[in-house]
Amino acid sequence: MSSTLIPTTNWAGNVTYSATRIHRPHSVDELRRIVGESRRIRALGSGHSFNGVADTTGELVLLDRLPRAMETDRSRSTVTVSSAMRYAELAAALHREGLALANLASLPHISVAGSCATGTHGSGNGQRCLAASVAGLQLVGPDGDLVELRRDTDPDTFEGSVVALGALGIVTRLTLDVEPSYEMTQRVRQGVPLDEVTNRLDDVFGAAYSVSVFTDWRGGEAAVWLKSRSDRPGSGWIGGQAAPHPVNPVPGMPPEFSTEQLGTSGPWHERLPHFRPELTPGAGEELQSEYFLPRSAARAAFAAVRGIAHLVAPVLHIGEVRTVRRDSLWLSPAYGRDSVTFHFTWVKDDEAVPPVIAAVEEALMPLGARPHWGKLTAASPSEIVSRYERAPEFGQLLEKYDPAGKFRNAFVDSLFPAW
Ligand SMILES: Cc1cc2nc3c(=O)[nH]c(=O)nc-3n(C[C@H](O)[C@H](O)[C@H](O)COP(=O)(O)OP(=O)(O)OC[C@H]3O[C@@H](n4cnc5c(N)ncnc54)[C@H](O)[C@@H]3O)c2cc1C
Repeated sequence: MSSTLIPTTNWAGNVTYSATRIHRPHSVDELRRIVGESRRIRALGSGHSFNGVADTTGELVLLDRLPRAMETDRSRSTVTVSSAMRYAELAAALHREGLALANLASLPHISVAGSCATGTHGSGNGQRCLAASVAGLQLVGPDGDLVELRRDTDPDTFEGSVVALGALGIVTRLTLDVEPSYEMTQRVRQGVPLDEVTNRLDDVFGAAYSVSVFTDWRGGEAAVWLKSRSDRPGSGWIGGQAAPHPVNPVPGMPPEFSTEQLGTSGPWHERLPHFRPELTPGAGEELQSEYFLPRSAARAAFAAVRGIAHLVAPVLHIGEVRTVRRDSLWLSPAYGRDSVTFHFTWVKDDEAVPPVIAAVEEALMPLGARPHWGKLTAASPSEIVSRYERAPEFGQLLEKYDPAGKFRNAFVDSLFPAW
């Protein structure tokens, strides 16, 4: 067993993990032994969450030293992968086999298990959270037992077990839906009035397979990133002016971190994320918060954020608005409703940012916002949980899978108090 006592932080450095020990097992059997012997333990993915969702005062386990696995099943159109695998590695390997995922987040450096556990998403009217592609998973339960769950054979519990905040056990592998590989282009339209975005919302977000609207909320304009598939025609919307050269989502930041633009065609995984896998964008000098709203509230949400732009803009690197298709995963922030997401990349200022997050939430929570599970929020746990109609069933699932609370942490306890 390998372990370390060195304290670690998350990617942004705003959370110092309080674990007494961090394990890095080399085999699933070793992991099962560690879990069986531990009193409190949870998995750490790639550490990109901005809050205490991954933290514990017990033990942490990193799965990056487990044997790497990637098995495709062409008859079922799935791939089964090690949970610690990062999307960048998975996507490149899938593409080599002529396969693809439906969507990716902005950053490909994040782990598959950690992303799915928090409802991580990309953009696209027709694209769901990454977790909605999960067809099966294997996890280590509290006694070190191995549990297999499948979408087709466990309909009663599966939809509660994917976006699970790490609270049901240590996921060792996931089976994901795949499709044939596809080509994409990426174009950026600059100087698009926010009024045009709100007045022609369906046209703008329907203009490509995946659309991101970046704005600093300062000048009333946006840059609209259009990621198009040649086999999926868009709405035909074309506003603003074409960016004459490649750009970074944060104006003024180096464009070389961004994926290929200017309309050159290339593989899906080299266009869907905003950032290239071989480079790390920034050094964690940021904080993030994000809200999923019902799509029907999009206009009101734009107006609400514009109304507090004078508070938001001074502490913001960049804001991003995306769309996400509804799904049926109990704790997915897009559960049951087509959504529009309002994301904020804040400057890393622990004093100036929290009051602005509170102001944003005062504006967006009345419109039905659900905060991203992996980002910062000022909302109370009870208020957050009240926005998920299947939350009581998730609480029951916790009791069933983990009666002694081995995988709980303060974050989970605050949302789902133990009975
Ligand atoms: C620069 C940057 C860009 C981002 N872009 C996006 C974006 O485009 N869209 C978006 O939605 N989010 C985005 N995020 C947020 C990010 O996707 C989430 O925080 C996600 O959870 C990160 O995955 P991770 O592997 O780092 O998870 P961690 O932060 O390590 O863990 C998150 C949760 O997953 C659990 N977990 C991890 N591994 C396992 C396992 N094997 N078994 C059980 N539970 C496990 C942990 O216990 C914890 O509860 C971004 C974050 C950063 C820093």
